[in-house]
Amino acid sequence: MAKRTIVTDPMPVLKEPTRPITVFNEELHNLVADMAETMYDAPGVGLAANQIAVPLQLVVIDITPKEEERELIVLVNPRIVEAEGEQCDEEGCLSVVDYTATVKRFEKVRVMAQDIDGAPMQFTAEGFFARVIQHELDHLNGKLFVDRLSSLKRTLYRKRRKKQLQKENA
Ligand code: ZN
Repeated sequence: MAKRTIVTDPMPVLKEPTRPITVFNEELHNLVADMAETMYDAPGVGLAANQIAVPLQLVVIDITPKEEERELIVLVNPRIVEAEGEQCDEEGCLSVVDYTATVKRFEKVRVMAQDIDGAPMQFTAEGFFARVIQHELDHLNGKLFVDRLSSLKRTLYRKRRKKQLQKENA
């Protein structure tokens, strides 16, 4: 296992479409192990493969708060097939530096995906878990949570980010 570097906005790989996974081999297991290590180290509750510059339809999620109770969820080629309700809460992202905002999401989603060995799965998620899934699936579609904000908020964020980057590169 190895920790990978998390890429941050505005790296192009975060905006590009991801490819479905068709081969379920040791390489995939290694990639998932690296993603889990990277997510736990950050720490974060979810990570999409394109956040470590691998443009594949793969996410890892763990919403358990404590290390002893870790429960890694691996979703390969996930998609939301049903959604209902509404929730609003503060969101941040490992690829969006020093910025959080309130984002509207579905309260409940039905997900179809494959597990790490390619077996199909289907489940319903609610509340915070549903929020994390929607956030990670957005990543796979080249979207960040800031893309879901009002254009005014998004413009302010972009200006701020530009200043940050200018400082970093100065
Ligand atoms: Zn994110």
